[in-house]
Amino acid sequence: MKDSLRKLPSIQTLLESPDALALISRYGHEEVVVTLRDRVERLREQVVSGVNISPSAFEIEEIVRGMGEQLEARRQVSLRPVVNATGIVIHTNLGRAPLAPEALIAMQMVGADYSNLELDLATGKRGSRYAHVESQICELTGAESAIVVNNCAAAVLACLCCLASGRAVVAARGELIEIGGSFRLPDVIEQSGARLKEVGATNKSRLSDYEKAIEQDTAVLLKSHTSNFRIVGFTAAPSRSELAELAEQRGLILMEDLGSGVLVDLAPYGLPDEPLVPDLIKQGVDIVTFSGDKLLGGPQAGIIAGRKKVVDQLKTHPLTRAMRIDKLSLAALEATLRLYRPPNNPIERIPVLRALAEGIDKIKARAETLARSLDNEGLTQVEIIENTAYAGGGSLPQQALPSFAVSLQAADISAQTFASRLRRAERGVLGRIKNDCLLLDMRTVRDTDLAQLVQSISEALSA
Ligand SMILES: *Cc1c(COP(=O)(O)O)cnc(C)c1O
Repeated sequence: MKDSLRKLPSIQTLLESPDALALISRYGHEEVVVTLRDRVERLREQVVSGVNISPSAFEIEEIVRGMGEQLEARRQVSLRPVVNATGIVIHTNLGRAPLAPEALIAMQMVGADYSNLELDLATGKRGSRYAHVESQICELTGAESAIVVNNCAAAVLACLCCLASGRAVVAARGELIEIGGSFRLPDVIEQSGARLKEVGATNKSRLSDYEKAIEQDTAVLLKSHTSNFRIVGFTAAPSRSELAELAEQRGLILMEDLGSGVLVDLAPYGLPDEPLVPDLIKQGVDIVTFSGDKLLGGPQAGIIAGRKKVVDQLKTHPLTRAMRIDKLSLAALEATLRLYRPPNNPIERIPVLRALAEGIDKIKARAETLARSLDNEGLTQVEIIENTAYAGGGSLPQQALPSFAVSLQAADISAQTFASRLRRAERGVLGRIKNDCLLLDMRTVRDTDLAQLVQSISEALSA
């Protein structure tokens, strides 16, 4: 061990190596010394603890190289923008909906200053943070009342805790979903302190199943959007109006977790019929929950809209307070909702809707522009191919959207290596690998991303 410790170069020796001098000119003496001490100390600890260390770890070049990587990594912020060339429009791992410029401006203004978050400027009295979005949500959905919490999962939990804790919730077997990130409806119901009463079979449920399941302690009939799967073939479920009537007769609440709340009809753009929030309200659903950052195209948020009597209970529930939305998300949400109001056309103004609705010709043109902008050095293939994009994010499940991709192959490196270098470029790029080619789908890439994309590709090829 003593021998090994003796092999550790001194800080002074390390600092005098040419590579270290280069790092000093880049990061400054102070930062380099601190980082070097840290690395040498860690090596010393490893020696003392008897870990097997390769002899090269003691070489000056190796220690300084490791330090260079550490300094570089520290300089880059961890959470940063990337180019989404996966073709998945609402990609949870990539932060879901990119925000409209109006939403960004709103966040910046409210973030940089004090605001009237919970103050009524007209009276000077305490106000409600929900007031900034409630009337807009009501106008857009037809609901009597609304509040917003942190995300949709929180919205569902808060509703069930508030409305059904200690009582029973009736739900169809075919709708007991699990969505990503360990959100399983049966578990959420249990967490809320309610008892789940399952009805029907996996593929079919009837109104009579619900009727029979209602007991003395039943509080809620729960419907949920089967976001990430479809049951096809022989299926049946009672209509919302039938369930709403049953709920009313028995004094129960009909709740529906919609997940991805669509406010505008996307059918004219070739997207399948999705239940729209206003339709649900019209059909008599008492309380609807949906996300802010899925098809709505706004910030992370969970919107709860419905009957005033029910929403009022939620407004004062301690869980709603614990899960309350922050001021920046609220600012972005208000600005996003405004883009749904005439004379704005949300399809043009909201990035995720624009990406979903974009015509195939424009996507192809973008692929052509990208292909033309790549000087082919280092690339053995640059091809424009038809591709399939997806809405993603637990919305419009399996819905294939026609798209175009630029398919790339690099000389001497595998598609995996190419993809990995692109991810780690200064502006990371995420694509898809297929048949040892790297596909960059152009439905999710914006025109404004193209210059950056070309730069990242050239960076990856010269790495
Ligand atoms: C996505 C989804 C949720 C969770 O929404 P978050 O905003 O991610 O919390 C809940 N229910 C359904 C049906 C969903 O699709």
